[in-house]
Amino acid sequence: MNEIDAIKNYLSAAGLKHFDLQAALIDMDGVLYDSMRNHTAAWYRMATEMGIECCRDEFYLYEGMTGAATIDILFNRAYGRCATADEARELYARKALYFTELGAPVMMPDADRMLSTLKISGLRRVLVTGSGQQSILDRIDRDYPGIFLPGKRVTARNVTHGKPHPEPYLKGAEMAGCQACQCMVIENAPLGVQAGKAAGCFTVAVTTGPIPRERMVESGADVVYGSMTEFAHALPNLIAACRTTTL
Ligand code: MG
Repeated sequence: MNEIDAIKNYLSAAGLKHFDLQAALIDMDGVLYDSMRNHTAAWYRMATEMGIECCRDEFYLYEGMTGAATIDILFNRAYGRCATADEARELYARKALYFTELGAPVMMPDADRMLSTLKISGLRRVLVTGSGQQSILDRIDRDYPGIFLPGKRVTARNVTHGKPHPEPYLKGAEMAGCQACQCMVIENAPLGVQAGKAAGCFTVAVTTGPIPRERMVESGADVVYGSMTEFAHALPNLIAACRTTTL
C-alpha cells in the first residue's frame, strides 16, 4: 500500500477529512537504538538462570510491555502465579544489570536523520518507551541532542499499563499538547503498534529486527517500512502527504 492510500484509510477509519499532523511519538528500543538483541539476551539469561523454560526470540514479542508484565508471563508459565512486587523489582534489576553488562547498544543507523526531519518539519517530539532501563534512558539527550525537550518522555515509570495498552501513547499525545489523531507513532514492535492504534494515532511500523512485516500489518500498522534507512528516506514525503491528503 502506498502512503497516500494508508493516510486515506486512516482518515476514513477515524472519521476525519484531513490529517492535522502536529507531533511524533517515538519509541526507543529498536527505533533509536539497535538494542533489542541485548534486551532479549538479558531476559533469556535471567529466565534460564531461574530454570524457567523459554526461547530467546520470544522476548522480541514482549517488547513494549513493562518489565513487570514480562516477568509475570514467565512466572505464570513456571509457577502458575504472578510475581510479587518484590520479586518483580529484584528480577528486573537483575535483567537490567545483564543488559548493562552487554555494553552500550549502538544508535540505530539513520535514526538521527529521521529525528532531524521531524524537527525541521516543525513536529513536536515525545519519547514513548516501555523501558525503565536507566543506562539507555540516560544516553538519549547525549546521542540525540536537541530532539526531546526536557520532560517530554513517557517511560515505564509514568504509566500504569504498558503497551499494548493505549495509555503510553495517550500520555505522549497529552505531553505533546495534542489529540492522539494529530500524532504519528513510530514503532518497531507489534505490541507497540497495537498501542499506537488503540490510542487512535497514525502508526508507522519500521521493521528493524526479526519480526516480519506481516506481523506489523496484523497488529494494525497504517504503513510499514523495511528498515530505518528506508523510513528516514521516505519521511519527508510521508509528512508532506499527511499534510496534503484529504478525503
Ligand atoms: Mg521498540
